[in-house]
Amino acid sequence: MSTNTRLVRGRFAPTPSGELHIGNAWAALLSWLQIRSLDGTFVLRMEDIDTQRARPHLASQILDDLYWLGLDWDEGPDVGGPYGPYTQSERIEYYEEALKQLEDQGCLYPCYCSRADLLAAARAPHGLSSEGPAYPGTCRLLTPDEAACKSLVKQPSLRFKVDHELLSFQDGIAGRQQFDTASGGDFIVRRADGMISYQLAVVVDDDHMHITDVLRGADLLDSVPRQLMLYRALGMHAPAFAHVPLFMGPDGKRLAKRHGGTSLAALREMGTAPEQLVGWLMWIAGLTEELVPLTAKECIPLFDMDKLPSESILITDEKLSRLHGS
Ligand code: GLU
Repeated sequence: MSTNTRLVRGRFAPTPSGELHIGNAWAALLSWLQIRSLDGTFVLRMEDIDTQRARPHLASQILDDLYWLGLDWDEGPDVGGPYGPYTQSERIEYYEEALKQLEDQGCLYPCYCSRADLLAAARAPHGLSSEGPAYPGTCRLLTPDEAACKSLVKQPSLRFKVDHELLSFQDGIAGRQQFDTASGGDFIVRRADGMISYQLAVVVDDDHMHITDVLRGADLLDSVPRQLMLYRALGMHAPAFAHVPLFMGPDGKRLAKRHGGTSLAALREMGTAPEQLVGWLMWIAGLTEELVPLTAKECIPLFDMDKLPSESILITDEKLSRLHGS
């Protein structure tokens, strides 16, 4: 074991807006294995910044489900650590500080567009990203007088100015990626109601928490360019990224509650043992040839990022029935 491997720091950052399902367990397990196999430090961060969607009881249920799975963390909301707090709703001052820095640098502008304006813009043929259609930049062109006039009647959101460029980065699983930053447009860093955006909070937190390696679901792959732009503007160093493919249901749509028996709560209720789920996730990952029960700890020496699939994984009824043991 090398002496400086503990400098490797990873994290799992759930949003407590729904129950943990097998797709989340897959990302959590692989992220934990990546860090544990390097003898690094694993952090748990609760991303409850969207107070309208976050449910406090789900936050504690998520921790409980993760412990049940056999994971542990060196720093987190329940165990503390040197870079806390580890709950986003308690970190607002850090986000405000970053906003101020961006504002002072002239990277932001107020946006007064209503939902209806944005919907109308959405009908125009702009690029699409996980955050919806690209913003056409309407308010970027407002004169200070026009902006002052609008501010009398509406609280603005704050947008980050995106300049057109091709951004490329190496993803540990998805491979070389190249994005045209214009396809997402200027993005929101603070909503009109004051809520800090996921993009800003995640960048500030990963930097403050000295995260070196981010492994998470591929639904966030197209967030990387926005995060890279924020890292750069804030003078921060971006971590290495690896995005694990998503689980798709038999209908070709992302695996979700409606597919049944996929939340950890449901599995636990059905009497599934954690070793059964961990063994199944490892088998799906192609890290074991046979479907055998395994503890999370037993999987540490089996982790090999190069073996992980990079395409979405179809979870057929047959595969699910192997998990349910029928
Ligand atoms: N909180 C995000 C989610 O649950 C994950 C954020 C991240 O890993 O960057 O989807």
